[in-house]
Amino acid sequence: MKDVLAEDRYDESVRAPDLDAAIAMLAAGPCRILAGGTDVFPSLQDRPLLGRVLDISGIADLRQIAQNDDHWSIGAAVSWRDVIRAALPPAFDGLKAAAREVGSWQIQNRATLVGNICNASPAADGVPALLTMDAAVQLQSCRGSRVMPLASFITGNRKTKRADDEMVTAILVPKAATAGQGYFYKLGARRYLVISIGMVAMRLLCDSQQKIAEIAIAVGACSEVAARLNDLEQHLSGQPLACAADIVAPSHFAGLSPIDDVRAPASYRIDAVEEAVRRLIAKAGSDIGHAK
Ligand SMILES: Cc1cc2nc3c(=O)[nH]c(=O)nc-3n(C[C@H](O)[C@H](O)[C@H](O)COP(=O)(O)OP(=O)(O)OC[C@H]3O[C@@H](n4cnc5c(N)ncnc54)[C@H](O)[C@@H]3O)c2cc1C
Repeated sequence: MKDVLAEDRYDESVRAPDLDAAIAMLAAGPCRILAGGTDVFPSLQDRPLLGRVLDISGIADLRQIAQNDDHWSIGAAVSWRDVIRAALPPAFDGLKAAAREVGSWQIQNRATLVGNICNASPAADGVPALLTMDAAVQLQSCRGSRVMPLASFITGNRKTKRADDEMVTAILVPKAATAGQGYFYKLGARRYLVISIGMVAMRLLCDSQQKIAEIAIAVGACSEVAARLNDLEQHLSGQPLACAADIVAPSHFAGLSPIDDVRAPASYRIDAVEEAVRRLIAKAGSDIGHAK
């Protein structure tokens, strides 16, 4: 790897020292962005990594979790391990639980949350928890920067709205969407080092009567793009938490479109995430019971 500032042509792999250098390389023509490389390298199988490669893992400014009055910001070089270690409000506990189940410790140390969403796998474990907190992505290019909701950034299996000359610099989580407690449930064929059959993230806030004041539920690996269950959220709002699990019905999952594959048939995935939602609600009920 060569220092981008020492080069006047960007026709090879570069480890960018800062964001300006990265943006300049993107402006000079399409290149493959490399963060942790834990999706990029396996996707090559036994082929070499050719073409213009922009390694952003050394940009210190991007390895920060910060906050201002409006939002939390998770930089593009922040690893899953950084997320686990960060002091964040309880609404992020679902994201932290997802982080603890991504691959192995080695993967968690190396891989980034932003790489997970940019790779746009339907089974990306970071996406549902971020959806429950109305997360947005910040994109930057030499043309300027823009912010768009994560829910519209990922458009399909391995497809995003990122333009060739743009990079994601951060995930933004509005503080207004961080009330309550976050939860996460992942079902795989085994506990670790496994691609999800289905996963559910939930963020829940109850009032003093233990009625649901705010709820967000998102499901992954059951459609091309992870999705919020808006209809179910509306049915649960205002209901006593104690009877919420009984409200969950198959019709609330009708908008999902899982695939049949070696990991599980579509019908099993739907049954599994329906059960996962009930279990998360039960877990929330028992947490509140213990806290009393
Ligand atoms: C053994 C193993 C186990 C795994 N287990 C899991 C798991 O349990 N759950 C799970 O969800 N994933 C898992 N993964 C997949 C992977 O580790 C994650 O998706 C990880 O978060 C990707 O992050 P990365 O930094 O390595 O991304 P990279 O591989 O560096 O990049 C991934 C993609 O995002 C693009 N990209 C990266 N950063 C940016 C940016 N800032 N702007 C624009 N584009 C960008 C890259 O160009 C590439 O297309 C596993 C992978 C391995 C090898």
